[in-house]
Amino acid sequence: MQYVSTRAAPSPATSSNSQQFSDILLGGLATDGGLFLPAEYPQVTGAELDAWRKLSYAELAFEILRKFATDIPEADLRAITAKTYTPEVYRNARPDEDSSRITPLRVLEEGNGTRLLLQALSNGPTLAFKDMAMQLLGNLFEYALAKQKAELNIFGATSGDTGSAAEYAMRGKQGIRVFMLSPHEKMSAFQAAQMFSLQDPNIYNIAIEGVFDDAQDMVKAVSNDLAFKTRHKIGTVNSINWARVVAQVVYYFRGYLEATTSNDQKVSFTVPSGNFGNICAGHIARMMGLPIDKLVAATNENDVLDEFFRTGVYRVRKSSETYHTSSPSMDISKASNFERFVYELVGRDGDRTRALFHKVETHGGFDLSGKPGSDGDEFKLVARYGFKSGKSTHEDRLDTIRDVADDYGIVIDTHTADGIKVAREHLERGVPMIVLETALAAKFNETILDALGEDAERPDGFENIEDLPQKFVVMKADVEAMKAYIAANTGL
Ligand SMILES: *Cc1c(COP(=O)(O)O)cnc(C)c1O
Repeated sequence: MQYVSTRAAPSPATSSNSQQFSDILLGGLATDGGLFLPAEYPQVTGAELDAWRKLSYAELAFEILRKFATDIPEADLRAITAKTYTPEVYRNARPDEDSSRITPLRVLEEGNGTRLLLQALSNGPTLAFKDMAMQLLGNLFEYALAKQKAELNIFGATSGDTGSAAEYAMRGKQGIRVFMLSPHEKMSAFQAAQMFSLQDPNIYNIAIEGVFDDAQDMVKAVSNDLAFKTRHKIGTVNSINWARVVAQVVYYFRGYLEATTSNDQKVSFTVPSGNFGNICAGHIARMMGLPIDKLVAATNENDVLDEFFRTGVYRVRKSSETYHTSSPSMDISKASNFERFVYELVGRDGDRTRALFHKVETHGGFDLSGKPGSDGDEFKLVARYGFKSGKSTHEDRLDTIRDVADDYGIVIDTHTADGIKVAREHLERGVPMIVLETALAAKFNETILDALGEDAERPDGFENIEDLPQKFVVMKADVEAMKAYIAANTGL
């Protein structure tokens, strides 16, 4: 399997302009600034789908990953997936869920020919769906680094979910250190406790005196110093990482196989979306031949994606137009994985993709509506890929959390509430609608308390997390001091 950049000139993949899975595993962007995608999507046959109905989650993950990671020996890949997708890692299932299913599916509503289902993706160590991919990434990184006898220092900034998922995936891993910046005293007590209570010597929590953007700017400033970056083997694990996207493809197959009994049936998915990483995996599953009817992107008040799927206009927001909402992991001003879909939409033309995303930098967006003066008319092709969208507000979230608690007897988190609100607007007879549950309610308890007047239940082991001893340093937003801290701790 060869990988190409979304900004590469439209020539056939050759060994000089394309790369293998292991080449792009530890990296981020392609050197031309594009994102990696397979030169072509592996196809899945009906016979394979039939055979996959019987597999465990770990075995299914192996079958799908082997189509993309063709340069990793199969026995090694099988061992990595077996070690990642276990009931012990994904142990935070609700009492009535079967944790051995890893991503258990629950029927919320059935009748009138429509079916609404919820797929639990948040039973991993940090109670959010990012564990699904990050846990695999931790094991893949450790494997690849051991082979290359190399080390990696992961450096990033977080406002909550990504940083904790990365730390829980990389803790105790050979050859890896994590330096994670967060805004001092700006995370919820639960989120801070989750990260800071890790005592592993390879995890470095750094609370920056400032807001998230200050922490993010520090990461950019340090990463722009290429000599420092190379010398200290600095890498990232952000949402554009290809291995993260491909790990997420697996649960779309799993959801489909659990919701259907034969391959003649179709299902739709609604995905609470921010950076377009999760739903991009759904698009890839569909391109591989999985019978997905609709892929519905649900946004909160930060509706960049909803606007595009309604109008064909992609208009990124300024920081001043980016709202802090009660579904904070979807508070994005631009969707970093969206380029992967646009590349497809413009017929895999790297030159056009480069020009469109250059225009995002210079003019804040582009317009594919086909109207006079627009940048193209490919919006008319969007339906071919099954995409739909919708938007949800703070009031909608509170209402949905209450409705779901009353009607189905379970408490959902704010991001999942955005998903259910939008999914209900897209229900169709004869096509089951699966909503992806992207976090558990305990992570966003403040809003649950507002909606229901009582605390969200915490999974076992999280009861007193705020009382555990915490390990972190507080630093000013000073780039030189940051570099000195990293240098002192990498010893490189
Ligand atoms: C990251 C995240 C999202 C958004 O996922 P994308 O892949 O960025 O679209 C939604 N919900 C939760 C809880 C998240 O942590």
